[in-house]
Amino acid sequence: MPVDENIKRILEEIGDKTLVCVTKTIEPERINEAIRAGATIIGENRVQEYEDKSEKILPCETHLIGHLQTNKVKRAVEYFDVIQSVDSLKVINNIDTRAGDIDKVQRVFLQVNIGNEPQKHGFRLDRIKEVINEIRSLQNIRVEGLMCIPPFVPAEQTRPYFQKMKALFDEMKQENGGNIDIQELSMGMSNDYMVAIEEGATMVRVGSAIFGERKY
Ligand SMILES: *Cc1c(COP(=O)(O)O)cnc(C)c1O
Repeated sequence: MPVDENIKRILEEIGDKTLVCVTKTIEPERINEAIRAGATIIGENRVQEYEDKSEKILPCETHLIGHLQTNKVKRAVEYFDVIQSVDSLKVINNIDTRAGDIDKVQRVFLQVNIGNEPQKHGFRLDRIKEVINEIRSLQNIRVEGLMCIPPFVPAEQTRPYFQKMKALFDEMKQENGGNIDIQELSMGMSNDYMVAIEEGATMVRVGSAIFGERKY
C-alpha cells in the first residue's frame, strides 16, 4: 500500500496515541510523503544517516531511537528534539554537558532492557529508579519518557514485557518533579503496536508497516 494510505490507516488505528514514523534507510522523498500524509515525528537510528538526509526533510519533530555512542553525542544534541535511546549514565552526563554548551535542555527518554537480554542496550528495570535519582540535578536534560525494545518474539508474546513496562512507567511517574517529567511510554513496532497500546503505550514506533520491508 502507498505510504500516505498506510500513515492514514495507522493514525486512525492508534487514535490519541503518538506515532513515531521510523525512517531509517528510507529516502527523503518517501519520508516527506509520510509527513505530508500526517506524520509529525520521525525516528532515526543513526546520527550520521539523519545528518545526511536532514536538509531534504520537511519540518517535523525528530527522535533518535538507536544506540548513541559517546563520540556522536554532540551532533545528536544538535540534530534531535528527543533522544529516546539513552542507555547509560555516561551518555546522560555527556548529553547534559553538550546540551549545556549550546544552551539547550535536551529532552530524553530512558531505554529499558526489559527482557534483560545481554546483547541489547538499555538499563535494567531494577536500576531505573536509582538512575532517575542520580540525574535529578542535571540542568540540561529533561526526562520525558521510558522506551523499550522487547525480545524478538511473536506479537502476543510481547504482552508480558509491555505489562512490566507499564507497571514501571506508573511507578516512575511518581518520581516526577524538577527535570523528571515522565509522560511517555514508547513501545510497540510494526508487528505489535496495537498490543503495546492495549498494554498502555502512549507512543509507538512504526517503520516497515509504513514503508514496507527495509532494503539495506
Ligand atoms: C527499526 C526500529 C523500529 C521500527 O521497526 P519496524 O518493525 O520496521 O516497525 C522501532 N524502534 C526501533 C528502536 C527501531 O530500531
